[in-house]
Amino acid sequence: MSEYAVNGLNVDLAGQAAVVTGASRGLGKAMAEALGASGAQVACVARNPEKLAETVKVIEEAGGTALPFACDVTDRQAADDVIDGVAEKWGKVDILVNNAGITRDTLLPRMSDEEWEDVINTNLRSAFLWSRAASRYMMRARYGRIINITSVSGLMGNPGQTNYSASKAGLIGLTRSLSRELAGRKVTINAVAPGFIESDMTATLGEIVVTEAKKRIPAKRLGRPDEVAAAVLFLASSAASYVTGQVLTVDGGLTG
Ligand code: NAP
Repeated sequence: MSEYAVNGLNVDLAGQAAVVTGASRGLGKAMAEALGASGAQVACVARNPEKLAETVKVIEEAGGTALPFACDVTDRQAADDVIDGVAEKWGKVDILVNNAGITRDTLLPRMSDEEWEDVINTNLRSAFLWSRAASRYMMRARYGRIINITSVSGLMGNPGQTNYSASKAGLIGLTRSLSRELAGRKVTINAVAPGFIESDMTATLGEIVVTEAKKRIPAKRLGRPDEVAAAVLFLASSAASYVTGQVLTVDGGLTG
């Protein structure tokens, strides 16, 4: 096994330039670390500069290369500037992981316009902005990997999550359409749909909800961020060159 093996997955991304949104904690942090440990240079994007610095430090301490970009993913100018900056610094943009996401759960009759718009903007519109910016470089290079982090909520729906489910189902539509637009340019677009994964997001659910969820998950446990990162790593690798427009579910069998 080479020096790049992560989670037993031997992926060599040496010299590649990757951008991960929502890299300050949770799943995105694990993805940035896995890409960095596989040899990629990683641009870590999120709002919290202190947390971003921690992600960069972990990658650098493991011998990798990373840079922090503190910004809001819903800011169009920031998306263009970061992608241009990465291309200028590292010469290209090979991998984009649209991972930043939020929940604003409540039943639809009580949902405010703001709760709807915040979730759609952060989870779906951001993927449009960052994919548009990155795909320009990928098309020219005739190589690229875009990985959108959706959710089982986007596949199954979930009460209290009409805004979140709509955003995540929208990401799947974006993935499928863009994959058809760019397949001829050797740019692949795939989605990863996690189930219940240990993170700040699921920590807000409360013990009863988590206990009930575990009963419904055939694996009888929550997933770990590194288990989602392994799926991202595969889709980012050259081994996935003929996989595009797909949704890879990582959910312990929940939707199986
Ligand atoms: P998390 O722990 O809450 O982390 C969310 C990340 O997104 C943070 O790094 C946050 O950074 C960033 N972010 C949020 N809004 C942003 C904004 N406007 N601009 C820039 N960055 C922003 O969530 P997670 O559990 O790791 O989830 C990551 C992704 O996986 C999300 O898309 C989520 O929907 C999806 N997912 C998670 C689960 C799960 O069980 N955890 C299941 C299915 C899907 P800052 O706060 O520093 O900006």
